[in-house]
Formats: sequence, C-alpha cells, structure tokens
Amino acid sequence: MVIILKQNADTAKKNALIENLTSLGIVIHHSQGTHTTLMGLVGDTSRLDINLLLANDIVEDIRRISEPYKAANRRFHPDDTIISVAGRKIGEGFFSVIAGPCSVESEEQLTTIAESVKKSGAKFLRGGAFKPRTSPYSFQGLENEGLRLLSLAKKATGLPIVTEIMSESQLDDFDDVDVIQVGARNMQNFRLLKALGQCKKPVLLKRGLSSTIEEFLMSAEYILAGGNPNVILCERGIRTFEPMIRNNLDISAVPLLKKHSHLPVIIDPSHAAGMSWMVEPLSKAAIAAGADGLIIEVHNDPKNALCDGNQSLNMTEFDRLMGDICARVAFEKKIMG
Ligand code: PEP
Ligand code: MN
Repeated sequence: MVIILKQNADTAKKNALIENLTSLGIVIHHSQGTHTTLMGLVGDTSRLDINLLLANDIVEDIRRISEPYKAANRRFHPDDTIISVAGRKIGEGFFSVIAGPCSVESEEQLTTIAESVKKSGAKFLRGGAFKPRTSPYSFQGLENEGLRLLSLAKKATGLPIVTEIMSESQLDDFDDVDVIQVGARNMQNFRLLKALGQCKKPVLLKRGLSSTIEEFLMSAEYILAGGNPNVILCERGIRTFEPMIRNNLDISAVPLLKKHSHLPVIIDPSHAAGMSWMVEPLSKAAIAAGADGLIIEVHNDPKNALCDGNQSLNMTEFDRLMGDICARVAFEKKIMG
C-alpha cells in the first residue's frame, strides 16, 4: 500500500501517522519526489482502515499495490532513479557504455583495452577478476590480482571500474571498485544481496538465466530494502528452447522493467548473443527499446581470450560500434552519461 501525502503536509501530523503505522508492525519506505511525498507500507496492511487513513487531512490518496516489490516499484517511486558514479550518470535521459574484457588476464591486456575503449567513448571499464565458470576446470580469473590490475587501469585511464563479486566475504577487497556486478548465476544469492544492501556502492544486478521479471525485481528489492538505493538492472539474455544462440535477449524486458520500476536498465548484448557479430544489431535494438546503457565485452585478441572470446568485439569493431551508437543515442536525445 502507498500513502500519498499532501504537499507541505504538517510534520507533527506526519510523525504521528508514522508512529501509529509503525506500532501496528508496518515498515515504511519514504520517497520524497519533486512534487509528491509517498510512504510505501510493507507488512500486513489488511488490518488498516483505509477510510480512517483517508480522513487524515495530510493524506491526499491511498493506493493498494499488489506487486510484492515495493522499493523497486515505480508506483511508489514515480521519479526515475539516476545513479551518479565518479561524475557519470546512469539512468533515464543518459546513456552509459561499459566496456572491457570478460576477464582480466594481465596488466598489458587490461591497460591496452582500457585505453582503447576510453578513446572510443566508453565511460566505464569492465573486467572480471572472479569468474563464475560452468566448469571447475576453466579459467577462474586472476582473483585478487585481477582486482589490483583493475585499480591500476583505473588510475591510468580515470575510468571507473565494474567487476563481479561472488560472495559477501569479498566485500572488503572491493573498496576501489566503483560498481559491483552481481552475475546472472548469483541473482538469487540472497546473503550476497543482503550484504550489498548494507553498502552504498552502486550494484549492477544481472538477470538470472531463467528468472522472471518479478523474480529479478525481487532480487533488486533485497538490495534496496537493505538501504542501498543504487541498483542498475541488467538484461543479459535468458534461456529458451533456441539452441542457435547462447541466450535469447529479452528486449521486452526493457520497456517492462522501465514501466514497473524506476531503476536504470542496461543491456548486455555480448552474453545475450554469445557471438560477436550479433553485438551490433542487439545494441541498436537496446537503444531503440529505451535502455539506459550497454555493457559490452571487448578484447585485444578475441581468438586467444581466456574467457568468452567468441562474443568479444576487437578494439576496432568496438570503435566502429561506438560511432554508430553515439549517433543513435543523440537521435534519442539522451546524453552519453
Ligand atoms: C560476465 O559479465 O562476464 C558474466 C559472467 O555475465 P553473466 O553473469 O551475465 O553470465
Ligand atoms: Mn563474459
């Protein structure tokens, strides 16, 4: 349930209302927009007398919300969430490109790619230090050494870094990381989500391989409910019956998520496709569908990449794609954030 307060509602009356609701075991999420003040009520609201609440002269309106996600719900938070990271903005009206290798392999590899993607216009550097691989025999990432190399690349280029966390026990090592990525396979690692709710760092949350939109938003809800408002949703393709492609990019997730939530939505065309030649058309589809950004895998030598080489663009291909993206983003009147 959401209570919409009148503009300039009396503070004493508001506090009395909050006290009354809290005494009934209701948890309140406050949302102060430019024009409206909302209170999202979580808990057993069935016992509340709506007519009595409406009789309170600071209450403008009351709406019941049936969706189980409250903090992520646009009905409770009508204004778009715009997340600022090191002077860059992610969210509606802006368009951010995150680029870099699937995994950090060496200092030379990472700095070469970082400098190149920066020149092409990427605003963030990605790179996995801890890799969630299907096979335990595949390259698992350079781990803490990878984090060190990401910090070096950040220092050298000024690009904020985006990298994946696997467990809440790693949080202390992620101090220098600007955006913490939660991979598709960890979307429902609830202990991790709860721990990320306790920190204030932006979290890039990827949709699980077979997750519904509601499950995806419920995972975001874990982070938001813990007190961290900085969540970026990432659609990266889902499992379907089609074997000709690694995953199926669910392009409808963009308008759906943006309708039901206020959080920024970005697309990962690399993991959705699994094939580098498909990254360009899927990126264009993402822009046309209203996405707020892209996360793209780029490698200096895709054929010899230790992970996901088949879906990685080389640096020239990425540069060409960025030229095309900038024109389309300008056409959509978004700012390269
Ligand atoms: C990645 O970004 O390299 C990755 C492993 O992505 P996902 O979790 O979407 O598979
Ligand atoms: Mn990858």
